[in-house]
Order: sequence, then structure tokens, then C-alpha cells
Amino acid sequence: MRSPDIRGVGMTSQRTRDRMVIRLSEQGIRDSRVLEIMAREPRHLFLDEALSHRAYEDTALPIGHGQTLSQPWIVARMSELLHQQAPSRVLEIGTGSGYQTLILARLFEELWSVERINALHCLAGRRLRLLKAHNARLRLADGGHGWPEAAPFDAILLTACASELPEPLLSQLADGGVLIAPLEALDGTQWLTRVRRSGDQFDHERLEPVRFVPLLEGVIR
Ligand code: SAH
Repeated sequence: MRSPDIRGVGMTSQRTRDRMVIRLSEQGIRDSRVLEIMAREPRHLFLDEALSHRAYEDTALPIGHGQTLSQPWIVARMSELLHQQAPSRVLEIGTGSGYQTLILARLFEELWSVERINALHCLAGRRLRLLKAHNARLRLADGGHGWPEAAPFDAILLTACASELPEPLLSQLADGGVLIAPLEALDGTQWLTRVRRSGDQFDHERLEPVRFVPLLEGVIR
């Protein structure tokens, strides 16, 4: 019998994916490589079967444990911002469903991704192996510590919102590197922020308002 995990890996959702990508370019996503990858990769495999028919809608969707799969636009936008930097070694904090991880694994040579909730970490690992994203290395840990053994990284992405960036992430960013993260302002609003490192200086640039789940400490086994 066919495993439920391979449902629709083929062309079944191609039309809805094409529509999603047309919408993304209308919403201002310009990076043709990002659009090409998102047109090809099966976002519906990163959701529960009961929700998979909504995978290509312009919305975030629940993945359990109080977490969400980010809406397609934010995945595309963050991927595009990282791609501008042309990094080869990339660290992601917050694997979640693994969908953003997959897009990054297709864009960049080497990818490390950390998740703090074991159930999500395991499921994402299964999906990424099924899709042969072998250049994505996953770890169950508190991402606030980064991945010291693999540092420095040319680029770092956080997919959960912090009010302050954990120091280890800043120190694991290579000189000249870029970190993209949702950061919470004092008034509680969240902003997608680009941080550029030059030597010991970190320049913050606010991009657009966003809505993310919080970056939390500790590991849930
Ligand atoms: N990119 C994911 C987003 C998932 S939501 C996707 O599109 O599916 C953000 C994720 O960050 C959640 O899975 C949450 O558990 C994880 N997270 C929050 N704080 C973390 C931390 N300190 N270390 C690692 N992962 C963290």
C-alpha cells in the first residue's frame, strides 16, 4: 500500500502551486530561483493530511504544539533576503514543519537547522529525508545557542520572534554575514529585521511588520 507520506509528490498539486507562485510575484517577490523552487516543492507534505488541501493558500497554518507553518509569502521573502547575500553556509533556528528548511536546502549548499520540540524535529527529519534534502542537517536543541561546531555561518535565519538576539547567534555570524529575524519592538509590534555584521558592529535594518510565534528557551522531548 502507498504510504500517506508520498501523497501527491507528483503533479497533483502543480496547478495550485503555480497559482501560489503567480500570487507571490504579484505580492512583490522578485527572486526567480526562489519562485522556481516554491513552484516545484510539495508544501502540502509539511502539514497534517486534514489540512494539506489548504497548503497553497496565502496563510499560516497550524502544525501542532502551538506552532505554525509560515505563510508562503513570508517563506519566499525571507528566502529572497538570504539569497541576495549568496551565502553557502546557512543556519536556521526553528525547523518547525521543515518547509522553510527544504526551500533553504534547495537554495544553498549547506544548511543547519535547529528545533526545540522533539516531535516537530522528528517529523521534519522524515519529510526532508523523503524529499532527499540531504544537505540539511537537523538538531534538537535550544536554538539560542546556535550550532557552535558548524560556525561561522554566512547567514542565519530565525523563524521565531525574539525581543533580543541571543549573543551566541551574533558571535556565530561570519564577518560580512547577514542575519534575518522577526524582532519584537518595545511596543510589542514585530518587524522583519536584517542585521549585517561588520567586525564587531551589528547594523539593524527594519524591513516589514510580521507576525511570528515567540522564540522560547529549553528543549521539549
Ligand atoms: N519555519 C517553520 C516555522 C515554524 S514556527 C515552518 O515554516 O514550519 C517557529 C518554530 O521555532 C517552532 O517550531 C518553534 O518550536 C521553534 N522554536 C522556538 N524557539 C526555539 C528555540 N529557542 N530553538 C529552536 N527552535 C525554536
